[in-house]
Amino acid sequence: MESHQYYNELMECLPTPLLQQEIDSQGDARFVSANRAALELLGMTDARQLIGKRPQDISPACQPDGECSQGKSRRLLAELPTTLTTPFEWVHSRTDGKAVIVKVSLLVLDSHEEGRVVVTWHDITEYKHTLQALSEQREALENILWGTGAGTWEWNVQTGETRFNERWAEMVGYSLASLEPTTIDTWMALAHPDDLKQSERALTEHFSGEKPSYDLEARMRHRDGHWIWVQDRGKVVSRTPEGEPLWVVGTHSDITERKEAEFIASELTERLKKLAALLPGTLYQYHQWPDGRSAFPYSSAGIKHIYGASSEDVKTDASPIFEVIHPEDFSLVVGSIEASEHKLTTWRQRFRVNHPQRGLRWLEGTATPERLDDESTIWHGYIHDISDVKQAEDALDVYRDSLERSNKELEHFAYAASHDLRQPLRMVTSYSQLLERHLGADLDEHTDTMLHFMKDGAKRMDQMLVSLLEYSRVGRKGQPMNWMDSREALEEALRFLQPDIEETGAKLSIEGQWPKIYASPDEMTRLFQNLVGNALKYRKADNTIEICLEAGGDAQKSRFSVRDNGIGIAPEHTDRLFKVFQRLHTREQYEGAGVGLAICRKIVERHGGTIWVESGGNGRGSSFNFTLALRGPQEPSS
Ligand code: ADP
Repeated sequence: MESHQYYNELMECLPTPLLQQEIDSQGDARFVSANRAALELLGMTDARQLIGKRPQDISPACQPDGECSQGKSRRLLAELPTTLTTPFEWVHSRTDGKAVIVKVSLLVLDSHEEGRVVVTWHDITEYKHTLQALSEQREALENILWGTGAGTWEWNVQTGETRFNERWAEMVGYSLASLEPTTIDTWMALAHPDDLKQSERALTEHFSGEKPSYDLEARMRHRDGHWIWVQDRGKVVSRTPEGEPLWVVGTHSDITERKEAEFIASELTERLKKLAALLPGTLYQYHQWPDGRSAFPYSSAGIKHIYGASSEDVKTDASPIFEVIHPEDFSLVVGSIEASEHKLTTWRQRFRVNHPQRGLRWLEGTATPERLDDESTIWHGYIHDISDVKQAEDALDVYRDSLERSNKELEHFAYAASHDLRQPLRMVTSYSQLLERHLGADLDEHTDTMLHFMKDGAKRMDQMLVSLLEYSRVGRKGQPMNWMDSREALEEALRFLQPDIEETGAKLSIEGQWPKIYASPDEMTRLFQNLVGNALKYRKADNTIEICLEAGGDAQKSRFSVRDNGIGIAPEHTDRLFKVFQRLHTREQYEGAGVGLAICRKIVERHGGTIWVESGGNGRGSSFNFTLALRGPQEPSS
């Protein structure tokens, strides 16, 4: 009796939950006693709360393995040997509703009363939760690793044992199983021999503590025969008691695409460098910051030829360039850069530099600005030496000026000559008339014929001089250019020609859209008058004259044509008609001095156009066409 009480007290004080069960007639275990530790675990304060209950009464309906608590309890009891059972896990529900996981050991004591079972619980709730959290963490890490697409390796430096994951093998075209058994030789057989040497170096640096990790870009032979690039990274994670590296773990990431892109980029850069070196000028990037700093981060080798400074000299500071800009052009250059920076418009500038070796040179630059996030501006441009071009341009300017001058002088000469020559000519005419009158009846037939030729020659010469005078007046005496209606000029010309039109019974048709033109009104009238006049004059005998006047054109040019059904022009003559005194007929056949079309050409060319004739040949009519450039100040809205 005493020992019974002694054991009861001992059981009560034990920190291990200890209980007793009795197996009833249904084969269920019922609690008959429980020590304090057991009650505490269940959240109970009094053994009476437990006594008489079956394990399934204080458990969730099912256990984590899916078996129902009642069935599992009965099965375990039925299998109960007479010794200590293998411990099993069981989930109980505490009085506060929380689950408590215990490892249960059942003990049937021989000495014990029949049907009594001693139960001990070992609380593993905490341990199970930690295990669960760890497995979740591991799963998350595996997911992350999967997401990076990295292969993993673990290498025992001392034994050579090496473990890879499936991805590591897959990267080189194998399955992990086909590579097994894996050792460090598996990696060495696949790595590029040149990179193995580098790998050894990187490992030594890491093992000695010189580098915090092992990091290398290496090539590996793919199963298909090609090379892939991997980023190989690792770290010593444990060491032997002697301090030697033991386990090294790391990853492989496939960087083939990046390496190929880098390779292409470097090849392109090389090619660009070679091409840039062939250019006569320099390709460059000019960078300017809001605080006033400026530099040429890139410039091709030609910069030395252009400015006398090398790419290296101006890479971080542009001042060597600004120092050689000609003082008189300095503010021009700075101002144009400022304007381009402000409006982000293309920079274009001609300026002079004092090249340290080559002396004064003319340069021309073009660059496109780009605003960067830090508010700085970078120009991508090209500058080249135009000293030779500039010299040629200057010479051309001088030549053009002298040409203009001599042209003016010539025009003046033509005007003066034709004007002044008329005076002595009038004398010839007057004296031949006086002579005729003086001789009167004494005038014999022969002398009369000679006098007639003399007067006729003087008259023709006068007509020629008048025409020449008119020709030289084009552009000098006419009305100034203005925006005008081309149709009005035509109507005016037709009014002058009205008597001829009526007399010949010509049929005129006017077609097309007659545009506004920027021109001298009286010269335009003159132009139409000459062309329509010729169409009336060079008609075929016994034929009704038909003249079609047409206009058209686009925003840059207007186009006009005067088409007739007259005598036509043989193709070999079409070019020379527009020169002074060029005629295809004698005066006896058709009146005229041969200056009309030359005047037309002078007028058209003064208005930025061209004139030409089209004809089907002799007897097939002609079409005189001309264009006018629609330039001039903004046309007033009509
Ligand atoms: P002109 O009429 O005074 O001779 P132009 O300079 O006007 O001088 O014409 C030069 C020549 O071009 C004319 O002599 C004539 O032979 C030819 N020509 C001009 N217009 C026509 C035309 N509509 N049809 C045929 N020939 C023409």
